[in-house]
Amino acid sequence: MGLLKSILKNTCPRCRRGDLFYRPFTLKNAYKMPSHCSVCNQRYAPEPGFYFGAMFLSYIASAIILVAGALFMVFALRWDVNMSLVIIFVIGGLTHNFFYRLGRSLWIHLMVRYDRRYASKMEASSTEKSQ
Ligand SMILES: [Zn+2]
Repeated sequence: MGLLKSILKNTCPRCRRGDLFYRPFTLKNAYKMPSHCSVCNQRYAPEPGFYFGAMFLSYIASAIILVAGALFMVFALRWDVNMSLVIIFVIGGLTHNFFYRLGRSLWIHLMVRYDRRYASKMEASSTEKSQ
């Protein structure tokens, strides 16, 4: 799995196979992460406050997209400014969890390198099990 796909699919940065967040997605576990990767045992929170920087990435990504959307509605579609702001606030509320997870996924992918050995170990062990 490529880096971009791993970031967007919220998978472990080291093996790119384990999930960063609990699945299936429910509102109850929307923000919860397991402590370790279920495949390669990579710690997801190596130190207290590890994801502080992820907050800024999440903010920047959501601001760029939402401001661009608002500007598009106002200047390209010629919609009313107040109506555009209401729509942007609703979209922002609905996509909050996506940007939260994207920020955390980006942050841990910046800090933890992909290690081909863990991905290949997993493939080897899964083929042994299937035989
Ligand atoms: Zn992993």
